[in-house]
Amino acid sequence: MTMTTSPTTIPALDMSAVTLTFPDGAGRVTALDDVELAVAPGEIVAVTGPSGSGKSSLLAVAGGLIRPDSGRVSIATAPGAESGGDLESAAVESAAVESGGVPGDVVELGALSRRQSARVRRDHLGFVFQQSNLVGSLTAIEQLEVTAHLGQHLVLSRGRRRAVHDRARALLTEVGLAEHMHKLPGQLSGGQRQRVNIARSLMNDPALLLVDEPTSALDQQRGSEIIDLLIRMSRTQNAATILVTHDPTHLHRMDAVYDMVDGRLRALSVDEIAAQQHPSAGAARVA
Ligand code: ADP
Ligand code: MG
Repeated sequence: MTMTTSPTTIPALDMSAVTLTFPDGAGRVTALDDVELAVAPGEIVAVTGPSGSGKSSLLAVAGGLIRPDSGRVSIATAPGAESGGDLESAAVESAAVESGGVPGDVVELGALSRRQSARVRRDHLGFVFQQSNLVGSLTAIEQLEVTAHLGQHLVLSRGRRRAVHDRARALLTEVGLAEHMHKLPGQLSGGQRQRVNIARSLMNDPALLLVDEPTSALDQQRGSEIIDLLIRMSRTQNAATILVTHDPTHLHRMDAVYDMVDGRLRALSVDEIAAQQHPSAGAARVA
């Protein structure tokens, strides 16, 4: 895989002047306030900030789950991405045919119908949430296969089934679950379930991966391993990744770190990132 880092790289996600409000009693609460954010393919950015500051809202808008009041959100799908092989080209092709676009398009989410938006999510986006939302009766590899087959209205060819199976196996191996592919969620630890979740989110070779506090149900060590894994996977899969996290340990390894306060998103400087990691002199230290 080649990773283009030239300044002409089109961001996989480009949000501009995005504002989102929700009804709140008689008034409205501002969840996103004039947010600007661009993330390039293969880049991983962290978003920190207090509870209720708008972090999950940011992911929901970036993923086309909620339409903002104003502003623009566009997603660039990867042209000729190779890692998915047959699977990827089939997915890109079907999206292109069904949405009237061509592979490698930049789609503006605001211009899409609900249905088209769902299709973009299915074909080009990956989501990882706090809880792993695995189906109790399916093995790890089946979780991944089912995801790839969802929304496919045609009878699957043997070739496509094979491609799905091979990709599921390759991804589970890459996240360290080669030995556990045929286990049910109940037979896996919390950290292993989150690995299945991450592998599943990558099945469609997403242009954009949206990850919301993936370590909050895990202990420090397991959580740390999950962040490591996400950094590695976003690079190898060339997915633009937004990681909402409370864990400051890994912030220096991110391509950028943003802090969200009252719906306003602000990029942190290297010094500010260091200060978050080693709160000292003057900063209140929580025992
Ligand atoms: P965070 O993820 O940082 O905790 P959220 O994005 O969940 O923050 O919430 C940002 C603000 O928007 C909060 O004030 C929250 O109460 C409000 N909010 C989020 N989702 C909804 C919703 N579906 N309806 C009404 N208010 C919401
Ligand atoms: Mg949240």
